[in-house]
Amino acid sequence: MAELKDVKGIGPKSLSLLNKLNIYTIEDLVTHYPFRYDILERNNLSEVEDGGKIVIDGKVESVPILMRFKAGLNKMNFRLVTNSGIVGVSIFNRAFLKKQLLVGTGITVIGKLDKTKNVITASDIKLGILTNKKKIEPVYHCTSGLTNKNLSTYINMALLVYGKEIPDHIPEEYVEKYNFLNKKTSLNIIHNPSTDEKLNQVITRLKYEELFEFMFKINYLKEQNKKEKNGLARKIDRKELNKFISTLPFELTGDQKKTVDEILDDLESPTRMNRLLQGDVGSGKTIVAFIGMIANCLCGYQSALMAPTEILAMQHYLNLQKLLEKTNIKLKTALLTGSTSKKDKQIVYDALKEGKIDIIIGTHSLIQDEVIYNNLGLVVTDEQHRFGVHQRANLQNKGIKPDVLYMSATPIPRTYALTIFGDMDVSTIKERPKGRQKIDTYVKKNSEIKEVLQMMYDELQKKHQIYVIAPLIEDNENSDLTNVYKLKDQMELAFRGRAQIDIVHGKMSNGAKDIIMQKFKDGLVQILISTTVIEVGVDVANATTMVIFDADRFGLSTLHQLRGRVGRGTSKSQCILISDSDAERLKIMEKEDDGFIISEEDFKLRGHGDLFGTRQSGDMSFKIANIKSDFKILLQAKKDSKEYLLNKDKDKDDLKKKLISSITEA
Ligand code: ADP
Ligand code: MG
Repeated sequence: MAELKDVKGIGPKSLSLLNKLNIYTIEDLVTHYPFRYDILERNNLSEVEDGGKIVIDGKVESVPILMRFKAGLNKMNFRLVTNSGIVGVSIFNRAFLKKQLLVGTGITVIGKLDKTKNVITASDIKLGILTNKKKIEPVYHCTSGLTNKNLSTYINMALLVYGKEIPDHIPEEYVEKYNFLNKKTSLNIIHNPSTDEKLNQVITRLKYEELFEFMFKINYLKEQNKKEKNGLARKIDRKELNKFISTLPFELTGDQKKTVDEILDDLESPTRMNRLLQGDVGSGKTIVAFIGMIANCLCGYQSALMAPTEILAMQHYLNLQKLLEKTNIKLKTALLTGSTSKKDKQIVYDALKEGKIDIIIGTHSLIQDEVIYNNLGLVVTDEQHRFGVHQRANLQNKGIKPDVLYMSATPIPRTYALTIFGDMDVSTIKERPKGRQKIDTYVKKNSEIKEVLQMMYDELQKKHQIYVIAPLIEDNENSDLTNVYKLKDQMELAFRGRAQIDIVHGKMSNGAKDIIMQKFKDGLVQILISTTVIEVGVDVANATTMVIFDADRFGLSTLHQLRGRVGRGTSKSQCILISDSDAERLKIMEKEDDGFIISEEDFKLRGHGDLFGTRQSGDMSFKIANIKSDFKILLQAKKDSKEYLLNKDKDKDDLKKKLISSITEA
């Protein structure tokens, strides 16, 4: 198939701008769907009230007069003839349009009508008169240097020349069954809709397609799992394991005991384990996973624990070592991350291959090609949502078929979990460890900042540490949201000489991030300012306060995760949400501390967007479908894709082969 650069009009510059929008192929381009539509219905001059919004067609009647002001401002005035009379038009800062606004040119003007002066103050002018009375205009996510118009042009050019080659992921029989339009026509309509009916029809079709593909993959993985009775059937020495459990510094909660049993049962059964362990932040999932790993090692197999970041891998590694030191279980542990030196890596690789390491903890490095295991029996991944369907399949491709346990702190309402994690068994920890104090949560306005600073000051006096979160990293001219650098200056000013303040954010290298996190852990930094990069898993018991600026910018689940960073020690902890808007939604956080309830609320309010964090979701970020509002379509797609998968007559279909290879090759 042709490449993006083959599309007429796309040069090297626009190519790199398209890449910025994650558009790399022609298929990406034509499935860059509008995120909304503007509906332009034409008005008569007489039907619009004074000061009212107007959209009107006409022809330019006088040469536009351009006035330039200070600071680069400009204004243009001209007269427009319309079917309902002549009207003056003035528009700011569109000097560049002057050349095109020749007398006689047909245009559509959008703006506000001043009836006394008979002038439209235009917010936009579109060249060319459109024939139908109503026009539905697609609006795309753009990037600086690439306009909505550019995108629309490229998309339509690509559709015109290559439209027939865009693959359809719905098998023909379902296209027929639901009377769907073909792919090319559907794409044409979604980018150039003429009526609402047609538009809605193709939106449903494209959503179905996306969900069909997704559910096909889930169903495929599920069927694969079912078939495999060649898992490891271990005989676990429970007595030995219980000895380890009794050395823990605390008693397991009921839910922890229950989930440990579920995992041990899986390990003993010949069916491969494929289990999701979900539980709120701080519910104690890690220890459950450790017990599973130790049980596996006691049976003579290697265990691996994969964390999403180096700092978390390190944290798990140190915690496990501490726990093992107290027992007489002799297991060799090792750490492997991207920053392990080349020499040390080789040592670890060799030891893993020879079976001299029992438990390996690390990052994605653990599933890289160079890593060869002696007899890997169990893989645990922390923060499941960072590993998509493809990564799940990746282990399988390496020829190892260990039992797999996924840990997730993002609680997912049961109905949805059953579908999107339909290929997994689910264990849930709801009960919290005893003695946990509730984290006091307050919603504050920006005008109450003094109070917030006082609260922070009081905590610093108690030698406690503080996280401060902002939505942006640096100044952005298009936004007045708080950013970490500005906050650092403000905090420096407020706490001069009283606190060490530092920054971590997502654009820093992992190494740099880890150094600062380590300083915070060691108490060398008292106030850590950050974007949401610290959302996942970091454990600093002395941090008692979480302050989140522009809290309305975050989903409740994200806020809950962030809040979970404090309250990990014995001191009373607090979370302060600063925002001037959206107070009602944020108040839920004051009342509620159960992540499952919060995630249900989030689901009701925002759909899945935040839950699976498009940022990090891998295969869970849909282009057009929304698993909450399109749940019905999802269920249908689930049923159909399963039927298609199980239909042996279709095994030779190109589409089926392609869908399967896209899972196993990734
Ligand atoms: P999660 O990974 O689910 O967010 P962790 O496993 O990090 O939670 O546990 C949070 C903290 O609670 C850890 O410091 C852990 O040692 C502690 N913890 C775990 N289980 C218990 C328990 N049953 N009683 C007391 N403390 C516990
Ligand atoms: Mg954890």
